[in-house]
Amino acid sequence: MLNIVLFGPPGAGKGTQAYKLIEKYKLVHLSTGDILRAELAAKTKLGEEARKFMDKGELVPDEVVIGMIRKKLNDNSEANGFIFDGFPRTKEQAKALDVLLDESGNSITAMLALDVEHAELVKRLLNRGKNSGRADDQDISIIENRVIVYHNETKLLIDYYSEQGKFSSINGMGTIDEIFKRLCQKVDTFY
Ligand code: ADP
Repeated sequence: MLNIVLFGPPGAGKGTQAYKLIEKYKLVHLSTGDILRAELAAKTKLGEEARKFMDKGELVPDEVVIGMIRKKLNDNSEANGFIFDGFPRTKEQAKALDVLLDESGNSITAMLALDVEHAELVKRLLNRGKNSGRADDQDISIIENRVIVYHNETKLLIDYYSEQGKFSSINGMGTIDEIFKRLCQKVDTFY
């Protein structure tokens, strides 16, 4: 099983590249952001609870997102592997993911981190906000808060995966195809 954590700050291009990777390598895409937005749209209890955090650019509590991932892993037990996008975002989530994968004798293959300059991130997010209508992409203070949360809580995961020899940095500047090519060069080394 090939299990990739696609990593990077908000706006790094994880979602875009995840869709290209799952197609090429026949993997399952697990995006906690997408799952949460589907819950918001369906106005479920979980969605209403998550909205309070998402509207401020804060993290949804660990137990909520871990529960969502547990369910998706169970639903896709026949998969060739997964691209984790937007998860894990805290050390608690990373540890829980290791335990969940271990239950079926699997593990994370690698963390591929997209490296993008701050000004470019803000530009991409505001642009996405215009096109998608996503509320958390249209307000500069929410965007800045998400970047702060990334630096304070999520970036630590680079150490977590580095210590296991699983971390790779990928240049996330350039065209979508250029970045995809860099990711594929790395993924191909795992086959
Ligand atoms: P981005 O990476 O551009 O910030 P996402 O779609 O991944 O966008 O996430 C949007 C919001 O959903 C986050 O700001 C956060 O509130 C919530 N969220 C997504 N994934 C997680 C997670 N793993 N843990 C906690 N909250 C999450």
